[in-house]
Amino acid sequence: MEYRDRQKKLRGLLNENRLYALLVTHLPNVRYLCGFTGSSGALILTEDRSIFFSDGRYIAQAKEEVHNSRVVIGRKAALLSAAEWLVAHRASLRSSRKPGLTVGIEGEHLTVSARSKLAKILGSRFRLKEAPPLIEQARSVKDTQEIRLIRAAVRMGADLFPALLKNIRPGIEENEVAAELEYAARRAGAEQMSFPTIIASGKRSALPHGVASQAKISANGFVVCDFGVILAGYCSDMTRTVHVGKPSREARIAYEAVREAQEAAVEVVRAGASVSEVDGAARKLLNKHGLGKNFTHSTGHGVGLEIHEAPRIAAGQTDILQAGMVITIEPGVYIPQKFGVRIEDMVLVTETGCEVLTPTTKELVTL
Ligand code: ZN
Ligand code: ZN
Repeated sequence: MEYRDRQKKLRGLLNENRLYALLVTHLPNVRYLCGFTGSSGALILTEDRSIFFSDGRYIAQAKEEVHNSRVVIGRKAALLSAAEWLVAHRASLRSSRKPGLTVGIEGEHLTVSARSKLAKILGSRFRLKEAPPLIEQARSVKDTQEIRLIRAAVRMGADLFPALLKNIRPGIEENEVAAELEYAARRAGAEQMSFPTIIASGKRSALPHGVASQAKISANGFVVCDFGVILAGYCSDMTRTVHVGKPSREARIAYEAVREAQEAAVEVVRAGASVSEVDGAARKLLNKHGLGKNFTHSTGHGVGLEIHEAPRIAAGQTDILQAGMVITIEPGVYIPQKFGVRIEDMVLVTETGCEVLTPTTKELVTL
């Protein structure tokens, strides 16, 4: 049912964007519109048709998974099969009253070489036009089904945290902590991790994207743990920073500042708020503590079928939050060669505020 509704919504946008058809090649977008989870697929969406293309490896899977679309299994790559289908059906397409044969492509996702091959097959009777990110915009507001799946992914991620803490001790490699976490995630039913697990200890905690390494966890210092699982296609994303040994006064102050900033940003999340307002709330708090310059990334991002999706919660962005968006709030402070702290929750935007989905405590945990 949801696939029909999603396609219908997109169809309504074709005409106003002067597109006869939208050629969807970005796999998360294909999945969103028709349910296909494989690695080779393309979807043509016109005002009255939806045709899915894949290759021989996916005959059975496409039959099982693809909804509300005709399935065409070709001998070539899905994109090329889709182009050939357009050419073969040109006559019937031309008879339509739609504005020409402009085909929208996903410029953010199609390689230059794929575009050339496409143009060569389509010839001069079709015009390729970079479409605005219509599907990404639609995806940013989650439907009931998606919110249910995201809740389950968030819960699974959070449930892994207590066991993760048990593995953090001086002398153990960051890699080993990550490996145990990832093993536990698969055992719990995760399809995979949402992104390479970040276990960044000691001075490495000052690297905002300190992917787990062979470094050993030291006897005293922060450990930034940023991880997520994918369940039924949907990602979770959470960060907690814990401290091994007794934290210094400076470390404690920095931690509390990040926590206050995180909570201040959560506080302003509601439908109608601008993303820059949310980012500003976290930044203002850290500026107050003299740590603004150490907050070197944006406050958050949308999460769904992809780990980073619209909207970006950042200064200078003009997006307005809508009820049903699921975003992260994850300010951090990084003091080079010393330490870093980040706290990240996933939140669901509602009409009156938001619901924090991540249930894990934000009190400083010392080990
Ligand atoms: Zn994260
Ligand atoms: Zn994140």
